[in-house]
Amino acid sequence: MAINYTEDIQIEKSKTSKIANVDFNNLAFGRVFSDHMLVCDFKNGEWQNPSIVPYQPVTLEPSAKIFHYGQSIFEGMKAYKDSDNNVFLFRPVDNFNRLNISAKRLAMPELPEACFMNGLKELIKLEKDWIPTSEGSSLYIRPFMFATGQGFHASPANAYKFIIACAPSGSYFSGKVKVLIEEKYSRSANGGVGFAKAGGNYAGQFYPTQLANNRGYQQVIWTDDNTHEYIEEAGAMNIFVRINDTLLTVPTSDRILDGITRKSILTIAEAEGIDVEVRKIKVAELIEASENGSLKELFGAGTAAVVSPISGFGFKGKDYELPELENTYGALLKKRITDIQTNKSDDPYGWRVKVC
Ligand SMILES: *Cc1c(COP(=O)(O)O)cnc(C)c1O
Repeated sequence: MAINYTEDIQIEKSKTSKIANVDFNNLAFGRVFSDHMLVCDFKNGEWQNPSIVPYQPVTLEPSAKIFHYGQSIFEGMKAYKDSDNNVFLFRPVDNFNRLNISAKRLAMPELPEACFMNGLKELIKLEKDWIPTSEGSSLYIRPFMFATGQGFHASPANAYKFIIACAPSGSYFSGKVKVLIEEKYSRSANGGVGFAKAGGNYAGQFYPTQLANNRGYQQVIWTDDNTHEYIEEAGAMNIFVRINDTLLTVPTSDRILDGITRKSILTIAEAEGIDVEVRKIKVAELIEASENGSLKELFGAGTAAVVSPISGFGFKGKDYELPELENTYGALLKKRITDIQTNKSDDPYGWRVKVC
């Protein structure tokens, strides 16, 4: 039978719902999971039809290659509900495309678009009640793929599993974030996998981040692996800098993840008439701008927080403070994006996708 992914997706509903046990007014990020998940297996050289099943453990052989060779990639996106209970996704095809960019780099099979998009929409329709409605909250969606095929031989697996799981999440406020500009460790390298959303990229970030935490910094600003002279990303977020009234970010490359929030910010900032520059940024330029008072804002950009303001940074044993501004670019851009996401404003770019 041909696999076309457009037939009705088989749904096995959970017998009981966990939803009554969830305190929707006190949601942490990614700690409670909704009742169902989408599952799709790759075997015999092709993706099978996806199905929706109760959220449950995955059983794997100890020889599954995910455990040995780390073929594991993921995406992060959100579903939003407006005041009339309409449900929306934000630029979901971009997440789908990026998943396949990651898959290709990790020698994993690319997923058909219909499998991802139809599966996602069916799952979100079913989990509609799990989408929180209070200001800033949303249903965080985690699509991910990993190697289930077996063998200790160091080669790509012949079987994979794709899953989409969901976690209702409250507004993501990390407080004042102080960051350390990294001079020794690297998140990614030329020719490496930095542009892919690969689990291993995160594993490699944890230890340097712990060292920074021990020194009183919440996050690391990654610099280029070759010279450590140029800033690249803020933790697992893209980085933005405001010098005087110009908003700067660095170009994407094979070391830097092509963030959907980053490119949305660039589009909106230009529409707002903000002077935008995409170019390399030296650590020395940041320090000079901090010392002469032209450094106004520094923030990370990513799906979870949209914009995460940075209050100061450390470099070579010295700390630099950012000024406390009102009416920041960061706050304005965050509002513009979340207004589009939650259907509070027009969407001139066609980014919002109505699910139900
Ligand atoms: C996911 C991610 C981002 C942000 O991407 P968004 O699409 O905006 O969520 C930035 N940097 C890294 C390293 C990431 O993994």
